[in-house]
Amino acid sequence: MMNNYKTIILKKGKEDSLLRKHPWIFSGAIHTISDKINEGEVVRVLASNGNFIAVGHWQIGSIAVRVLSFVDEEINEEFYKKRLATAFDVRKSIGLVRNNASTANTINNTFRLIHGEGDNLPGLIIDIYDDTAVMQAHSVGMHCDRSTIAQALKQVMGDDLKAVYYKSETTLPYKADLGQENGFLLGHSTNNIAIENGLKFHIDWLKGQKTGFFVDQRDNRQLLEQYSKGRKVLNMFCYTGGFSVYSMRGGAELVHSVDSSAKAVELVNKNIELNFPNDPRHEAFAVDAFKYLEDMGNNYDLVILDPPAFAKHRDALKQALRGYTKLNAKAMEKMPSGSILFTFSCSQAVNKDQFRTAIFAAAMQTGRNIRILHQLHQPSDHPINIFHPEGEYLKGLVVYLE
Ligand code: SAH
Repeated sequence: MMNNYKTIILKKGKEDSLLRKHPWIFSGAIHTISDKINEGEVVRVLASNGNFIAVGHWQIGSIAVRVLSFVDEEINEEFYKKRLATAFDVRKSIGLVRNNASTANTINNTFRLIHGEGDNLPGLIIDIYDDTAVMQAHSVGMHCDRSTIAQALKQVMGDDLKAVYYKSETTLPYKADLGQENGFLLGHSTNNIAIENGLKFHIDWLKGQKTGFFVDQRDNRQLLEQYSKGRKVLNMFCYTGGFSVYSMRGGAELVHSVDSSAKAVELVNKNIELNFPNDPRHEAFAVDAFKYLEDMGNNYDLVILDPPAFAKHRDALKQALRGYTKLNAKAMEKMPSGSILFTFSCSQAVNKDQFRTAIFAAAMQTGRNIRILHQLHQPSDHPINIFHPEGEYLKGLVVYLE
């Protein structure tokens, strides 16, 4: 035994999913716990016959252990360095790290470095904005290890990294009462402009949703740009206006951005101003989506629907699917012949077949003939661990309306 971690013994047969390398242990699978364990502590997990299975972070809740390693090893700075270095290599392979692209349009300094289970670090998210890393813990264990992780990250990224900002106020279990706080763990940076495919975005680490920006739509925004020329675009649920800025560059005739949050409308206006100052083609409105779709005319021939997750849990699935159908039907009703719809779901509980069925239902309800042009998903810097299919969360369809 290489470490002194407290031990958890599983019920008979409950090691099966772990032998298939699934990284979660549910509380119902646990037979005995050696000692009192504090939330966030690393534990050693044994099968009922005493065989070593995994080490992971302990937490109170339905997922009791998030597996960090299937090797009996110490979880320390070296461990995190190894994991972070692998993830960094993956992003280099994708071509996202400081790529020396020859045209301004392809310059990119924004990417996701750690995507939880997809990078074998359940509970941890790290997004890179130029030389600042924004780190988010979704588990108590990652919260406890935050300083070690920041140190390891500095070693891996070297001069590419000037600051690590920690933002976990809204992502940690409320009951754990950890005194969550947002702030710099390392260095300090005031440069909060990110560049994505040559376009500039203000990133609000402090108050913004997630790590301040939705990095996961990068490739899909690029595709939208190609469809934008001469079109009248509606970007519904625009948040920071990622899709809007791309469609402006793509030569849209007009772009309207809508979000129920006044703060989002402020952000989208700022980002348009940053890239296309005084361009009269763009306008933003702080209005509820259903109200806007109800009242709008029949003008928009390129519509983006990228709503927040309708199903946060499996129990809410049926209702969420009805929600997607209703929302898409509302938009389809108003779109002229020859229109294109980019429609998304970021609910983990909704799989791509279910989402497609929801869009099918919307087409039936509105009597529209639609063709699927593209099936979209999350980009390569949001990888899916093959042993953890739940990590596939973003799906989208680009459809042509006859
Ligand atoms: N498309 C965005 C991300 C969308 S996040 C991007 O590429 O960055 C979802 C957004 O939906 C949030 O900004 C939230 O404020 C907004 N929203 C939530 N409920 C809404 C509603 N009923 N009507 C309009 N916007 C809503």
